Amino acid sequence: MQLQPTATQSLADYKSIADDKQLDRLRRLATDLEGVRVLHVNSTANGGGVAEILQSLVPLSNILGINTDWRVMEADKLFFDVTKTMHNGLQGQDVVLADAMKTTYRRETQRNAAALTDEYDIIVLHDPQTLGMAKDLADRFPDTQLIWRCHIDLTAASEPCLQFLADDIRHVDHVVFSRPEYGRDFDLPTTVIHPSIDPLSEKNRPLDPDEIAAERDRLAPIDFTDDSPVITQVSRFDPWKDQFGVIDAYRQVKTSFPSAQLLLAGGMADDDPEGVEIYERVADETADDPDIHLLTNEPDTTINFLQRKSDIVVQKSIREGFGLVVSEALWKKTPVIGSRVGGIPLQLDDGTNGHLISPDAADILVDRLEGLLTADARRRQLGKHGRETVREQFLLPRHLLDYCELFRVVQT
Ligand code: UDP
Repeated sequence: MQLQPTATQSLADYKSIADDKQLDRLRRLATDLEGVRVLHVNSTANGGGVAEILQSLVPLSNILGINTDWRVMEADKLFFDVTKTMHNGLQGQDVVLADAMKTTYRRETQRNAAALTDEYDIIVLHDPQTLGMAKDLADRFPDTQLIWRCHIDLTAASEPCLQFLADDIRHVDHVVFSRPEYGRDFDLPTTVIHPSIDPLSEKNRPLDPDEIAAERDRLAPIDFTDDSPVITQVSRFDPWKDQFGVIDAYRQVKTSFPSAQLLLAGGMADDDPEGVEIYERVADETADDPDIHLLTNEPDTTINFLQRKSDIVVQKSIREGFGLVVSEALWKKTPVIGSRVGGIPLQLDDGTNGHLISPDAADILVDRLEGLLTADARRRQLGKHGRETVREQFLLPRHLLDYCELFRVVQT
């Protein structure tokens, strides 16, 4: 398993952004955890919310003196086809996990577990991809506390998928979910931790006027002037992110706002084999409209710019574990219209920092888009509240604090 190199920041840099008391408490808890060795394991170094979180959480943990490593599983496409099927099943799709798929999952997770020889006090296994490592790790490292951090909304999970995972879940000591509602009764200690964004990362830091001008030039012919409204969704190309629903809504809005533009930015996560296929279907569907722009694998500075300079960000997910993209846009004072699913309602307060819609209410999405596009002052007001929501609840120091509290509990 690959050990991930991570950039370093300084805790002092967060002083101007995060709450002083929170930072003090974080320092104290980190001191209590001195000498504790922590490992995070996930299945991709790039793409998707988990990698995004670990890229910031791990370096900040180390700065605070919590000895923390991050390793990424090594596996081939066959394994990721299986785990994407499991992911879809856990999000509520009817899927079949054939015996050969189960064998692939067991073989690859055990191979990755066997490759781990260093000892840790706490290992956090992120998502179903890594969970199969639990049995081998529990057998070889009986003193290690194993935590399964599930980022998926399991409320509608298919029973066969849950049953398959149940065999692995019983080898972990603790489970973490993003919302209490996701917590199936696994008969294990369970903690709820909300994810976060890093306000200092390349994706979320302030951009200076030269950088903004450079991005505008680079993204031409997309027009970021007031004459041509920009509606954006930033998401992996994935059936659950419902890019087709966004396109339908945009087409209706376009009849009242002929200069409207739609940007669909979507990176391809290394552990998501469906991305290319969905991207190609979206590209076919939108080829005849020069005002729809598909942007793939854009650097973080560009995503930062898009979330900052779009008039409205949409997140029309059908299922969503948390949806970091919502907080990312709100932090940049851009109002968000998002589906009332998964973690989105934790971040969006309807009418305060954006709008919540039912994922199957296409007409309401169109109404909300049209309403906000004609109300500049209202958009600014929602955006201002959005930044405060994120400042209070969804920044990295609070997230690490929650982890430290959990680590202290599992260590005793
Ligand atoms: N992302 C990105 N480029 C893209 C699409 C997504 O950098 O083209 C990032 C996005 O900014 C966010 C993460 O990928 O940080 C997606 O996390 P989220 O929780 O929204 O969804 P997930 O992909 O984990 O389901």
